[in-house]
Amino acid sequence: MSIPNTPYKIYLEEKDIPMNWYNVRADMKTKPAPLLNPGTHEPMKAEELAAVFCEDLVEQELDNTHRLIPIPKEIQDFYRMYRPSPLTHAIFLEQELDTPAHIFYKFEGNNTSGSHKLNSAIAQAYYAKKQGLKGVTTETGAGQWGTALSMACAFFKLDCRVYMVKVSYEQKPFRREVMRTYGASVVASPSNTTEVGRRILEAYPGTTGSLGCAISEAVEDAVGREGYRYVLGSVLNQVLLHQSIIGLETQAACRKYDIHPDIIIGCAGGGSNLGGLISPFMGEKIRGEADYQFIAVEPASCPSMTRGRYAYDFCDTGMVTPLAKMYTLGHDFMPSPIHAGGLRYHGMSPILSQLYEDGLMEARTATQSSVFQAAEVFARTEGILPAPESSHAIRAAIDEALKCKETGEEKTIIFGLTGTGYFDMTAYEQYNNGSMQDYIPDDADLEKGFASLPKI
Ligand SMILES: *Cc1c(COP(=O)(O)O)cnc(C)c1O
Repeated sequence: MSIPNTPYKIYLEEKDIPMNWYNVRADMKTKPAPLLNPGTHEPMKAEELAAVFCEDLVEQELDNTHRLIPIPKEIQDFYRMYRPSPLTHAIFLEQELDTPAHIFYKFEGNNTSGSHKLNSAIAQAYYAKKQGLKGVTTETGAGQWGTALSMACAFFKLDCRVYMVKVSYEQKPFRREVMRTYGASVVASPSNTTEVGRRILEAYPGTTGSLGCAISEAVEDAVGREGYRYVLGSVLNQVLLHQSIIGLETQAACRKYDIHPDIIIGCAGGGSNLGGLISPFMGEKIRGEADYQFIAVEPASCPSMTRGRYAYDFCDTGMVTPLAKMYTLGHDFMPSPIHAGGLRYHGMSPILSQLYEDGLMEARTATQSSVFQAAEVFARTEGILPAPESSHAIRAAIDEALKCKETGEEKTIIFGLTGTGYFDMTAYEQYNNGSMQDYIPDDADLEKGFASLPKI
């Protein structure tokens, strides 16, 4: 394939921001399994879900048929503040690697919250406002989702209560202050302000928390408070739907400059950025219009797809959420406190889990130190200081480009650069000092998590 004659940064015009989200479920031959009521094991009904989630979001969650879902005008207007995001041709990285591969990245860190999470936060805040709610509760791992939601809630004047995983709360005090500046209240999780938090603290004294714990607390708080609903920054079908804006813009940029990706790569925590980036391309693949290799990259310390089970499990540690069929390490799995906080989740989006189960995408792991090595190369060549989460995708992109160097293949690689790492300097400090640890759970560690899977 010829070297694409593209600008360094491909910016679409404002008018090219998609007016619809793309729902990959409409094209999937095997639909993702439905959420189940944990008591009856029957599929969750819309009315049941509406006790926890906003009405319009429930509709989106259950919609397996509509391919395109219109983006409300208010959300389109907000998107204009920071979209379209650029698709960048990583020519300096290519030079450094001396590879025949063509590498592009879709950069989602160009907004104050610093990640792709704002794409869904603004949508969820909009629907909460539309329903006339007072506020929303949520969890945050590394802090990016909480920050994005705080910004979105400030915009629509909604109250925002964030349960922040304790390890991040302590490692990233400035993240917390950004959220408070946008008006959110932030609680370190597990906390003693909820029933489930107190239970978890008793069972695991000294725990640094996990996304699963924080979700339990946020759900309990929302359900018990008049005029509040719970919102979630990843995993759910609705979140992948909102994030499809990433893939749709990428697809439009590719069409504009006749770029034909062979490989599309994303890091995978709960699966929202990867799902959003690949969805439109996956649709082409399922419909037989094109073929792509999709690669999910997860931390070796939290390998839900590569070493997990495809089973029904709770989305949270406290077992207050519906059951989702997904690749999971078990809701009791407590990942080691690695720095890519946004990837420390025991499960994986049901949509991506089904696509992976059907052999339509691949997954691999990367160790923490190999990820920071990749981040360093990237920062020194392309200039952007990447988030540790995003650097998992960089690792795989570099590895694939180096393979091309060996074989002489001129593949085109696109990866999702989900965010910036300015709040992760403690992690970079450890890497720079040579004191970074790699942690890979052994089979016995994983068995403990699997033992918590509900029997269905
Ligand atoms: C949250 C986050 C991720 C992981 O979440 P997904 O839902 O898997 O996308 C990746 N990168 C950044 C920068 C994040 O904030």
